[in-house]
Amino acid sequence: MAGIVENYFRPDWRMRAVTCVCGWQGDSRSMVMQLHEEVTDYACPDCENTLLIVSHPDIEQVRRAAADGNAEAQQQLALVEEALAAQRNSTR
Ligand SMILES: [Zn+2]
Repeated sequence: MAGIVENYFRPDWRMRAVTCVCGWQGDSRSMVMQLHEEVTDYACPDCENTLLIVSHPDIEQVRRAAADGNAEAQQQLALVEEALAAQRNSTR
């Protein structure tokens, strides 16, 4: 059974150890990461069982986390705002 991470910016999910049905144990850093459009999956490196599903943050979550002082969110927000500004400039 895969755990679902609703809030990407809660820092503890990366380090949380998960035990797979096959007996493998570890955290997200040793799992196999697979990027999708809406989510990122983390699977067991031994049996490819999906262990974690992380919802990608939307812009509101990024803004809120950035306002709370989350460094990663602040970085992402800067990138997003840069992209939005570039978009505005090109349509002008
Ligand atoms: Zn496994």
